Amino acid sequence: MNPEKEIINLRNEIHKHTHLYYVEDAPVISDYEFDILLKKLVDFENKFPNFFDTNSPTQRVGGKVSKSFQSIEHDFPMYSLDNSYSKEDLENFHNRVLKKILNKDLNYLCELKFDGVSINLTYENGIFVRAVTRGDGIKGDDVTENVKTIKTIPLKLKGNFPLKFQIRGEIFIGLNDFEKMNKERAQNGLEPYMNPRNTASGSLKLQDSAIVAKRPLQCFLYQVISDNSKTQIDNLNFAKNWGFNISNTYKLCDNINEVFQFINNWDKERNNLNFEIDGVVVKVNQINYQKILGFTSKYPRWAIAYKFKTMQAQTTLKSVSYQIGRTGAVTPVANLDPVLLGGTIVKRASLHNQDQINKLNLHLNDRVIIEKGGEIIPKIVDVEVSKRNLNSEKIIFINNCPNCLSYLQKNESEAHHYCPNAFSCPPQITGRIQHFISRKAMDINGIGNETIELMFKNNLISNYADLYSLKKEDLLSLERMAEKSVENIFQGLNNSKKIPFQRVLFALGIRYVGQTVSKNLANEYKSIDNLISKTYDELIMVDEIGERIAKSVVDFFNDSENILNIEKLKNVGLQFETNTVVLDSKIFDNKTFVVSGVFDNYSRNELKKTIELNGGKNLSSISSKTSYLLAGDKMGPSKLKKAQDLGIQIISELDFITMLKV
Ligand code: AMP
Ligand code: ZN
Repeated sequence: MNPEKEIINLRNEIHKHTHLYYVEDAPVISDYEFDILLKKLVDFENKFPNFFDTNSPTQRVGGKVSKSFQSIEHDFPMYSLDNSYSKEDLENFHNRVLKKILNKDLNYLCELKFDGVSINLTYENGIFVRAVTRGDGIKGDDVTENVKTIKTIPLKLKGNFPLKFQIRGEIFIGLNDFEKMNKERAQNGLEPYMNPRNTASGSLKLQDSAIVAKRPLQCFLYQVISDNSKTQIDNLNFAKNWGFNISNTYKLCDNINEVFQFINNWDKERNNLNFEIDGVVVKVNQINYQKILGFTSKYPRWAIAYKFKTMQAQTTLKSVSYQIGRTGAVTPVANLDPVLLGGTIVKRASLHNQDQINKLNLHLNDRVIIEKGGEIIPKIVDVEVSKRNLNSEKIIFINNCPNCLSYLQKNESEAHHYCPNAFSCPPQITGRIQHFISRKAMDINGIGNETIELMFKNNLISNYADLYSLKKEDLLSLERMAEKSVENIFQGLNNSKKIPFQRVLFALGIRYVGQTVSKNLANEYKSIDNLISKTYDELIMVDEIGERIAKSVVDFFNDSENILNIEKLKNVGLQFETNTVVLDSKIFDNKTFVVSGVFDNYSRNELKKTIELNGGKNLSSISSKTSYLLAGDKMGPSKLKKAQDLGIQIISELDFITMLKV
């Protein structure tokens, strides 16, 4: 077959599977098989660079850096929507429409009003060519390179699409992805992002598209700009057939009462969505009626947004408490009189930092307005100053750590204060040990966060190294600790000795050294001793290691207490070198592997390469000839079952690493 044809076929295959996975949520091949296709395409494209195409699926990973975004005038202005807040407003809208459209067949298409960033996409001959932000409605920014990384946006269309057209939609971040991002940030000692919408719009404006590619951006499309069709609902259905991601929440309503029902229903149901909406958009369905109605200077006369009220409640501020995280960061928390908000009882609200408290000018016993956005914890947005008691006390941010009384410090570039007493401030000590045992770090089964606190209170441990010198009698003396649980703890500690160096490094809890940074450092320096010997100047040369991380690493190893802990952990046998993977051996001669799922320490490709380097062979599907199924997370259940049925040996990533150690 000629290479051009092969490349085109591969691209089409991959476009198809991306769509099935991200838009339809119904993949037909495994991640592994997908990777193989992509790898094949990358190889071909490298070999035949003259067939380069900016819309190849290989370009989704980003890499182009834009110093500034070109301003582009919209072919059709991006209007805003007229707003309504009550049934009366909506009835007025309906009456205005009826004045011009007397026909009985008038109906409305009701859609959700997705709360993200609007985007205008241009397609020519079925190929994605441009993405422009709304900007001021007349001109927006060209963010094509960044948008190309969003998997729910097709780079190539299927079916019977118009030769040239534009389509509009909303780019957003799902709530569970958002939560995950913030958890990771917290783990790395970074401030959380405020809300999904700002994070989505900030992501679109990043200069490096490779970083955008790592953000979990999604897109719903809701408006085809084309003259060819008769109704809005047809447009959505057509767009869906061309491969666009259309939320299936829309509904055709024959009269205004059905519109009200749709609104009432989603006002209740919106808490159950995995993305944020701020209302409903009601659109005249027939395009010829839309044309009769036309536009004002600001918005279409054929559509209106019904805005949900943000969920708010009023309550009394009882006190402010201050929590200290494992990195010493101080988070003020408002304790409130319990109040019902959006279906849950709220007792606490986050106050973020000192600036936030000052901005609100909070006083004790203030009547405060709390609001729930996409965040899990509600926030205080306003104070009813008129209801304040004259002699109530102003909330003054603390100067000293409530746990160890150390004087708090603050870096100018950061918003939060922190307690500098890393080694004897109780919540920092327990926080670090809790991080050490967590799933993505040492993954010590059998010990929970409460157990750590209990052990600490009973003076059994004062750092993570102490975990390995715990005695059976000590543990049995703890409240509610049974023989079986103690066994599990020792088992868990023992298993953790297999955890590879990069995760041990992450577990140490060096500020700003998250999973990715740990991996980079481990790959670069191979052993802890080597890493400890590096200077600030050497460290900043490593991939993705900036000044802040380099300084934090140097500070960490300059502390004798940290060095002592590391020595202790070395002595009990934790992995402090990356020599776990043997290269170039024959230990897997005549062995065949199927690698499937997602792994904690290595990518699937790294694992496959290691298998080959050690004489083994990779297969894409399981048969009776398979020696091992190397199983990660999220593996397809059918694969697992097949392996079990055939009696294939199923091994974990850690088993695999252990096999390689000779
Ligand atoms: P506003 O920003 O309040 O003027 O509302 C207009 C914006 O709502 C548009 O620019 C879109 O970004 C957004 N929007 C979200 N969902 C929809 C939808 N289903 N139809 C039209 N616009 C929508
Ligand atoms: Zn403290």
